[in-house]
Amino acid sequence: MVMLQDGNRQILIVEDDEDTAEMVSSLLTEAGYKSVSVDTGETALSEIAAKSPDLVLLDLGLPDINGLEVLRRVRDTSFLPMIVLSGFSQERDKVRVLEAGADDFIGKPFAPDELVARIAALLRRVQWTPQAETKLVVRQLELDIPHRQAAIRGKKLHLTPVEYGLLITLMRSAGQLVTHDELLRTVWGEKYAGDYSVLRVNISRLRQKLEENPRRPAYIVTVPGEGYRMPTGRP
Ligand code: CA
Repeated sequence: MVMLQDGNRQILIVEDDEDTAEMVSSLLTEAGYKSVSVDTGETALSEIAAKSPDLVLLDLGLPDINGLEVLRRVRDTSFLPMIVLSGFSQERDKVRVLEAGADDFIGKPFAPDELVARIAALLRRVQWTPQAETKLVVRQLELDIPHRQAAIRGKKLHLTPVEYGLLITLMRSAGQLVTHDELLRTVWGEKYAGDYSVLRVNISRLRQKLEENPRRPAYIVTVPGEGYRMPTGRP
């Protein structure tokens, strides 16, 4: 599996209604997330700055500063995933919230399953978003996306932009076949489809840097006639 470095995601609940906060908190615990609740905008901002949670569930009607203001202030400095939970669920409210920088909007009352599904979907998407401060991990291979830094068995890899592009593409699809043409299109661009030699050369270079034994690759495995696959199991 491709996963974030820390298995246990921390979610910040910003909600001044105690019953709602408790209900959401127990839902999240059941779904396997850790959570912390705060009941004002100011405490939300300081908690975000101090603990950098993985995702924020934000109520709009807060006693001190408006949720929209919280959203804007967070967005000024980070790509932190944020879902707004609000009793105002007109289309224009949604639009305002999304324009202020929310990743998603859920109207109250909401179905528990839906909330959990939206959180999971957002965390999945964030994983694939290069700007988000995330890490891809496949066995002993780690990719620090914001710093474009890869490491194998704890040792830094020095990669060219093309090698980095190949690596991130394979890691994002870990466990699955990535075809020659998919790799060429993703890393080099549309007009390279069919240019298998450029691909072979770069895969070979990447294996030299990555594999303990490049002749018997454990991370970039050839699928004959089709492409490559990065196995997720133990080598
Ligand atoms: Ca409220």
